[in-house]
Amino acid sequence: MAKPADTRTAGRKPVTKPTRSTAETEKIRGALAARRDELRAEYDQTLSEITELQRDRLTDSAGDDQADTGTKTLEREQEISLANSILERITQVERALERLDEGGYGWCERCGNPIPVERLAAFPSATQCVTCKQLEERR
Ligand SMILES: [Zn+2]
Repeated sequence: MAKPADTRTAGRKPVTKPTRSTAETEKIRGALAARRDELRAEYDQTLSEITELQRDRLTDSAGDDQADTGTKTLEREQEISLANSILERITQVERALERLDEGGYGWCERCGNPIPVERLAAFPSATQCVTCKQLEERR
């Protein structure tokens, strides 16, 4: 009768940083995904406003004086820069989601503590916890 002689498991991993629970990670993922959806809706809205402004300009520019045309161009430029900044925020959230999967997201870069879920949802690009952030701002 042969028994497996040695079943020692040497599966000890060195712990380099605290870990989040799966539930917490999922909560962050949910918050980030909701944020991304919100931003996407905002982005779509802005895009359709830009299209509308453009259409306005094409349809009734004949009767417009110089000032009107100028205002509309400015409005359109503002909408475009708004759209770009929303797009940037969407990219930030998507990067955050990627880093979350890799386990490198949501830790304070100063003290190493987990950044609260609510803060991450509000500021996906946050790299510090509120305490550290306040300390830094007070300098
Ligand atoms: Zn901190």
